[in-house]
Amino acid sequence: MSNEDKSDKSNKSNKSNKSMDLDEIRKQIKRELKKELLLEIRRELKYEEKATKEQKVETVEMARETPAPIAPATGKENIIVSVTSVLKIASHAYKYANPKIPKPKWVEVIGILAGSIDVNGHTLFLEDAYPMGHGTTVYAEIKDYKNYVRAYNDIKKKDLFVCGWYHSHPSYGLFMSKEDFGTQVRYQKLWKRSLALVIDPYLIDGSSYGFKIFRARLKTKEWYPVPFVIKGAFDPVILPELLSFISPIVYGNALYLEYDED
Ligand SMILES: [Zn+2]
Repeated sequence: MSNEDKSDKSNKSNKSNKSMDLDEIRKQIKRELKKELLLEIRRELKYEEKATKEQKVETVEMARETPAPIAPATGKENIIVSVTSVLKIASHAYKYANPKIPKPKWVEVIGILAGSIDVNGHTLFLEDAYPMGHGTTVYAEIKDYKNYVRAYNDIKKKDLFVCGWYHSHPSYGLFMSKEDFGTQVRYQKLWKRSLALVIDPYLIDGSSYGFKIFRARLKTKEWYPVPFVIKGAFDPVILPELLSFISPIVYGNALYLEYDED
Protein backbone atom coordinates (compact mmCIF):
# COMPACT_ATOMS: atom_id res chain seq x y z
CA MET A 1 0.00 0.00 0.00
CA SER A 2 2.78 2.42 0.83
CA ASN A 3 4.34 1.72 -2.57
CA GLU A 4 1.12 2.65 -4.25
CA ASP A 5 1.03 5.86 -2.24
CA LYS A 6 4.53 6.76 -3.31
CA SER A 7 3.96 6.11 -6.99
CA ASP A 8 0.70 8.00 -6.75
CA LYS A 9 2.49 11.02 -5.33
CA SER A 10 5.27 11.00 -7.89
CA ASN A 11 2.71 10.81 -10.68
CA LYS A 12 1.01 13.82 -9.24
CA SER A 13 4.17 15.89 -8.99
CA ASN A 14 5.01 15.10 -12.62
CA LYS A 15 1.62 16.16 -13.71
CA SER A 16 1.68 19.35 -11.68
CA ASN A 17 4.24 20.83 -14.08
CA LYS A 18 1.63 20.85 -16.76
CA SER A 19 -1.48 22.92 -16.61
CA MET A 20 -4.07 21.28 -14.53
CA ASP A 21 -7.71 22.01 -14.96
CA LEU A 22 -10.01 22.75 -12.07
CA ASP A 23 -11.70 19.39 -12.22
CA GLU A 24 -8.44 17.61 -11.80
CA ILE A 25 -7.48 19.78 -8.84
CA ARG A 26 -10.82 19.10 -7.24
CA LYS A 27 -10.38 15.39 -7.77
CA GLN A 28 -6.94 15.55 -6.27
CA ILE A 29 -8.17 17.41 -3.19
CA LYS A 30 -10.90 14.81 -2.77
CA ARG A 31 -8.37 12.02 -3.03
CA GLU A 32 -6.14 13.68 -0.47
CA LEU A 33 -9.03 14.28 1.93
CA LYS A 34 -10.15 10.69 1.60
CA LYS A 35 -6.63 9.47 2.23
CA GLU A 36 -6.33 11.70 5.30
CA LEU A 37 -9.62 10.46 6.69
CA LEU A 38 -8.70 6.83 6.17
CA LEU A 39 -5.30 7.39 7.75
CA GLU A 40 -6.93 8.97 10.76
CA ILE A 41 -9.32 6.07 11.16
CA ARG A 42 -6.46 3.61 10.87
CA ARG A 43 -4.45 5.51 13.48
CA GLU A 44 -7.39 5.40 15.87
CA LEU A 45 -7.85 1.72 15.22
CA LYS A 46 -4.23 0.98 15.96
CA TYR A 47 -4.57 2.84 19.23
CA GLU A 48 -7.67 0.82 20.14
CA GLU A 49 -5.91 -2.40 19.32
CA LYS A 50 -3.10 -1.58 21.69
CA ALA A 51 -5.53 -0.51 24.36
CA THR A 52 -7.38 -3.81 24.19
CA LYS A 53 -4.02 -5.65 24.42
CA GLU A 54 -5.30 -8.38 22.16
CA GLN A 55 -4.28 -10.38 19.10
CA LYS A 56 -4.12 -8.46 15.87
CA VAL A 57 -7.09 -8.12 13.59
CA GLU A 58 -6.86 -9.77 10.24
CA THR A 59 -7.42 -7.14 7.63
CA VAL A 60 -8.97 -7.64 4.24
CA GLU A 61 -10.15 -5.27 1.54
CA MET A 62 -12.71 -2.90 3.04
CA ALA A 63 -11.92 -4.41 6.39
CA ARG A 64 -8.78 -2.30 6.44
CA GLU A 65 -10.92 0.70 7.20
CA THR A 66 -13.67 -1.14 9.01
CA PRO A 67 -13.02 -1.25 12.68
CA ALA A 68 -13.95 -3.55 15.49
CA PRO A 69 -12.45 -4.06 18.88
CA ILE A 70 -11.17 -7.46 19.73
CA ALA A 71 -13.05 -9.20 22.48
CA PRO A 72 -11.54 -11.93 24.57
CA ALA A 73 -12.27 -15.36 23.21
CA THR A 74 -14.95 -16.98 25.31
CA GLY A 75 -16.49 -20.41 25.47
CA LYS A 76 -20.02 -19.24 25.98
CA GLU A 77 -21.69 -16.24 24.52
CA ASN A 78 -24.95 -14.37 24.96
CA ILE A 79 -26.31 -12.14 22.26
CA ILE A 80 -28.82 -9.54 23.39
CA VAL A 81 -30.65 -7.51 20.77
CA SER A 82 -32.09 -4.10 21.67
CA VAL A 83 -35.67 -3.17 20.84
CA THR A 84 -34.27 -0.15 18.97
CA SER A 85 -32.37 -2.47 16.63
CA VAL A 86 -35.43 -4.63 16.05
CA LEU A 87 -37.61 -1.63 15.24
CA LYS A 88 -35.05 0.09 13.03
CA ILE A 89 -34.22 -3.00 11.01
CA ALA A 90 -37.83 -4.11 10.71
CA SER A 91 -39.08 -0.66 9.68
CA HIS A 92 -36.23 -0.26 7.19
CA ALA A 93 -37.05 -3.63 5.59
CA TYR A 94 -40.78 -2.86 5.71
CA LYS A 95 -40.30 0.51 3.99
CA TYR A 96 -39.30 -1.25 0.75
CA ALA A 97 -41.48 -4.34 1.10
CA ASN A 98 -44.97 -3.74 2.43
CA PRO A 99 -48.56 -4.30 1.30
CA LYS A 100 -48.74 -0.78 -0.19
CA ILE A 101 -46.02 -1.69 -2.72
CA PRO A 102 -46.74 -4.30 -5.44
CA LYS A 103 -44.85 -7.42 -4.44
CA PRO A 104 -42.68 -7.60 -7.60
CA LYS A 105 -41.29 -4.20 -6.62
CA TRP A 106 -40.18 -5.23 -3.16
CA VAL A 107 -36.44 -4.73 -2.73
CA GLU A 108 -33.75 -5.66 -0.25
CA VAL A 109 -32.32 -3.23 2.28
CA ILE A 110 -28.91 -3.27 3.90
CA GLY A 111 -27.30 -1.71 6.96
CA ILE A 112 -24.67 -1.94 9.66
CA LEU A 113 -25.04 -3.33 13.18
CA ALA A 114 -23.52 -1.49 16.13
CA GLY A 115 -22.77 -3.23 19.37
CA SER A 116 -20.97 -3.30 22.65
CA ILE A 117 -19.53 -6.05 24.74
CA ASP A 118 -19.42 -6.69 28.48
CA VAL A 119 -16.12 -6.68 30.38
CA ASN A 120 -15.66 -10.43 30.43
CA GLY A 121 -16.59 -10.71 26.76
CA HIS A 122 -19.43 -13.16 27.31
CA THR A 123 -22.24 -10.90 26.22
CA LEU A 124 -22.50 -9.14 22.91
CA PHE A 125 -25.14 -6.41 22.91
CA LEU A 126 -26.59 -5.55 19.53
CA GLU A 127 -27.45 -1.98 20.45
CA ASP A 128 -28.36 -0.17 17.26
CA ALA A 129 -28.71 -0.49 13.52
CA TYR A 130 -27.62 1.95 10.82
CA PRO A 131 -29.62 1.78 7.60
CA MET A 132 -27.29 2.19 4.61
CA GLY A 133 -29.36 1.63 1.49
CA HIS A 134 -31.59 -0.55 -0.62
CA GLY A 135 -31.08 -2.53 -3.78
CA THR A 136 -32.81 -4.74 -6.28
CA THR A 137 -35.38 -7.41 -5.52
CA VAL A 138 -32.63 -9.88 -4.70
CA TYR A 139 -29.53 -7.90 -3.98
CA ALA A 140 -28.42 -4.98 -1.87
CA GLU A 141 -24.97 -3.67 -1.22
CA ILE A 142 -23.36 -0.75 0.50
CA LYS A 143 -22.58 1.36 -2.54
CA ASP A 144 -21.27 4.54 -1.09
CA TYR A 145 -18.07 4.16 0.83
CA LYS A 146 -18.35 7.70 2.20
CA ASN A 147 -21.60 6.75 3.91
CA TYR A 148 -19.89 3.78 5.45
CA VAL A 149 -17.26 6.08 6.96
CA ARG A 150 -19.99 8.42 8.19
CA ALA A 151 -21.81 5.55 9.88
CA TYR A 152 -18.54 4.33 11.36
CA ASN A 153 -17.93 7.75 12.92
CA ASP A 154 -21.49 7.99 14.26
CA ILE A 155 -21.15 4.54 15.81
CA LYS A 156 -17.82 5.42 17.38
CA LYS A 157 -19.25 8.60 18.88
CA LYS A 158 -21.73 6.45 20.76
CA ASP A 159 -18.93 4.26 22.13
CA LEU A 160 -20.17 1.35 20.07
CA PHE A 161 -18.40 -0.65 17.38
CA VAL A 162 -19.39 -2.28 14.10
CA CYS A 163 -20.46 -5.79 15.12
CA GLY A 164 -21.89 -6.96 11.81
CA TRP A 165 -24.41 -6.14 9.12
CA TYR A 166 -28.03 -6.77 8.25
CA HIS A 167 -30.03 -7.12 5.09
CA SER A 168 -33.51 -8.19 4.08
CA HIS A 169 -34.93 -11.05 2.03
CA PRO A 170 -38.37 -9.67 1.24
CA SER A 171 -40.62 -12.75 1.14
CA TYR A 172 -37.99 -15.36 0.40
CA GLY A 173 -36.97 -16.52 3.82
CA LEU A 174 -34.12 -16.52 6.27
CA PHE A 175 -30.88 -18.00 5.00
CA MET A 176 -27.45 -16.96 3.72
CA SER A 177 -26.90 -16.88 -0.03
CA LYS A 178 -23.48 -17.40 -1.57
CA GLU A 179 -22.98 -13.62 -1.79
CA ASP A 180 -24.20 -13.16 1.78
CA PHE A 181 -21.72 -15.79 2.91
CA GLY A 182 -18.88 -13.96 1.12
CA THR A 183 -19.82 -10.69 2.77
CA GLN A 184 -20.04 -12.35 6.16
CA VAL A 185 -16.61 -13.94 5.74
CA ARG A 186 -15.16 -10.44 5.22
CA TYR A 187 -16.85 -9.20 8.38
CA GLN A 188 -15.62 -12.18 10.39
CA LYS A 189 -12.07 -11.79 9.16
CA LEU A 190 -12.31 -8.30 10.53
CA TRP A 191 -13.86 -9.40 13.81
CA LYS A 192 -14.51 -13.08 14.31
CA ARG A 193 -17.71 -12.57 16.31
CA SER A 194 -19.37 -10.41 13.64
CA LEU A 195 -23.06 -11.04 13.08
CA ALA A 196 -25.09 -11.36 9.89
CA LEU A 197 -28.71 -10.50 10.57
CA VAL A 198 -31.20 -11.48 7.87
CA ILE A 199 -34.77 -10.22 8.06
CA ASP A 200 -37.81 -11.12 6.00
CA PRO A 201 -40.48 -8.49 6.70
CA TYR A 202 -43.03 -10.89 5.22
CA LEU A 203 -42.54 -13.10 8.30
CA ILE A 204 -43.44 -10.35 10.76
CA ASP A 205 -46.91 -11.64 11.45
CA GLY A 206 -47.12 -11.54 15.23
CA SER A 207 -45.60 -14.98 15.70
CA SER A 208 -41.96 -14.07 15.03
CA TYR A 209 -39.58 -11.12 14.90
CA GLY A 210 -39.01 -12.01 11.25
CA PHE A 211 -35.23 -12.28 11.48
CA LYS A 212 -32.40 -14.62 12.33
CA ILE A 213 -28.76 -14.02 13.07
CA PHE A 214 -26.10 -16.06 11.31
CA ARG A 215 -22.38 -16.63 11.34
CA ALA A 216 -20.05 -18.37 8.91
CA ARG A 217 -17.67 -21.25 9.57
CA LEU A 218 -14.69 -20.14 7.55
CA LYS A 219 -13.02 -23.53 7.31
CA THR A 220 -16.01 -25.60 6.25
CA LYS A 221 -17.70 -22.76 4.38
CA GLU A 222 -20.96 -23.30 6.22
CA TRP A 223 -23.29 -20.82 7.83
CA TYR A 224 -25.34 -21.42 10.94
CA PRO A 225 -27.90 -19.56 13.05
CA VAL A 226 -26.77 -18.16 16.38
CA PRO A 227 -29.17 -17.91 19.33
CA PHE A 228 -30.10 -14.49 20.67
CA VAL A 229 -32.61 -12.87 22.98
CA ILE A 230 -34.42 -9.57 22.71
CA LYS A 231 -33.81 -7.15 25.56
CA GLY A 232 -36.81 -6.82 27.85
CA ALA A 233 -40.13 -8.53 27.50
CA PHE A 234 -40.75 -7.60 23.89
CA ASP A 235 -43.43 -9.92 22.57
CA PRO A 236 -43.43 -10.37 18.76
CA VAL A 237 -47.23 -10.17 18.95
CA ILE A 238 -46.98 -6.37 19.25
CA LEU A 239 -44.44 -5.94 16.44
CA PRO A 240 -46.86 -5.63 13.47
CA GLU A 241 -48.95 -2.99 15.24
CA LEU A 242 -45.88 -1.12 16.42
CA LEU A 243 -44.41 -1.12 12.92
CA SER A 244 -47.60 0.14 11.42
CA PHE A 245 -47.81 2.88 14.09
CA ILE A 246 -44.25 4.13 13.51
CA SER A 247 -44.37 3.79 9.71
CA PRO A 248 -44.99 7.56 9.11
CA ILE A 249 -41.61 8.26 10.74
CA VAL A 250 -39.91 6.17 8.10
CA TYR A 251 -41.20 8.63 5.50
CA GLY A 252 -40.26 11.66 7.59
CA ASN A 253 -43.82 12.42 8.67
CA ALA A 254 -45.33 13.06 12.08
CA LEU A 255 -46.87 10.04 13.77
CA TYR A 256 -50.12 11.93 14.21
CA LEU A 257 -51.43 15.46 14.35
CA GLU A 258 -54.02 17.09 16.53
CA TYR A 259 -57.04 18.22 14.53
CA ASP A 260 -55.89 21.75 15.41
CA GLU A 261 -52.62 21.19 13.62
CA ASP A 262 -54.05 20.30 10.21
ZN1 LIG B 1 -29.17 -12.25 1.18
